Amino acid sequence: MQVRYRYRIYPTPGQRQMLARTFGCARVVYNDCLRIRDEAYAAGEKVSDTEVQRRAITLAKATPEREWLGEVASVALVQACQDARRAYRNWFDSLSGKRKGRKVGRPAFRRKHQRQSVRLTRNGFTLHGQRLYLAKIGDVRVEWSRPLPSAPSSVTVIGEADCRYYASFVVERELTQLPANGREVGIDVGLASLAVTSDGEVIANPRFLRAKERKLGRAQREVSRKAKGSANRAKARRRVAAVHRKVRETRLDYAHKTALRLVRDNQAVYAEDLCVSGLARTKLAKAVHDAGWSQLLRLIEEKAQYYGREFHKIGRWEPTSQMCSACGTKDGPKPLSVREWTCAACGTVLDRDVNAARNVLAAGRADRLNARGGDVRPGFVPAVAGEAGTHRSAA
Ligand SMILES: [Zn+2]
Repeated sequence: MQVRYRYRIYPTPGQRQMLARTFGCARVVYNDCLRIRDEAYAAGEKVSDTEVQRRAITLAKATPEREWLGEVASVALVQACQDARRAYRNWFDSLSGKRKGRKVGRPAFRRKHQRQSVRLTRNGFTLHGQRLYLAKIGDVRVEWSRPLPSAPSSVTVIGEADCRYYASFVVERELTQLPANGREVGIDVGLASLAVTSDGEVIANPRFLRAKERKLGRAQREVSRKAKGSANRAKARRRVAAVHRKVRETRLDYAHKTALRLVRDNQAVYAEDLCVSGLARTKLAKAVHDAGWSQLLRLIEEKAQYYGREFHKIGRWEPTSQMCSACGTKDGPKPLSVREWTCAACGTVLDRDVNAARNVLAAGRADRLNARGGDVRPGFVPAVAGEAGTHRSAA
């Protein structure tokens, strides 16, 4: 299984300058690739991937406006071409319906004042001992916070907006099989929390994270108050980047722990896909909340794969708040202010979020049992029928 291992790196001032140049060249090539594809598309011309690369790198280097592309490692430029190709393809596949899930938009041009990165494959870097050699940059000092499990196949060098640098290696890691257990859980996006499980557990957004998010809002307002192009604005922008990093790191750490716990405790985890459930929550959909939710799902998926557990996203929209998870009666939509109600048919008192999570569990379990072709692991006993939500009406 391929995973990423990330380390902080400490380039010297000279290396930072060279990195900045490499970032800049990769950004220009990436943007040029998008432009070349756009123009070809508008002109009705079909361009091959090699032709795009030839125009964006080889031909460009020969022109006075782009000759400086020759100063940086060409492997970084080739990777930028491939990144642009992938972004473009994802967009097309999403338009044509070939790519499932959330709609992918038109790839955006890369900008200067955001996180910068370059990807280097095997011929662009070497590891010897404690040192990381990057092509045309030299040996960079790495803070090895944990050992690499295997030889990396590629490295992405990242320059964050707060002036910290990282190396993110792609490595192969052996899978670890956890002993089987028969438990299953459904999770759903909570209204006030990050998620709610069918066991009734509320996974809250931690308080310290909310405090940091408020601080982030304040720092962002600070930037807009400073004059454009001023040194104070640049300073305020760096401060925003630093708070951003703290929020991001805290959220990621918390999501890792939550995902690990859910995967360890359960043989199967079911969740509602955000692009599907999002339809029902447009008014609520806070970008921050949604980002946290998809991050959690991504980590659960990754860890489930790593530990030999099941993770299943429910593919179609279920009116999870309209159905009683105890008896399956559908009693229509309820305004968001209704947090709890009593089912008219069976008299069960239902909590909005937990009810939704139980319906997710039932729908996921049904999907799984219906799936033919080896999806169901032998030796795994599904939970007994008659539990909450198993009366889901056949859709
Ligand atoms: Zn009921």
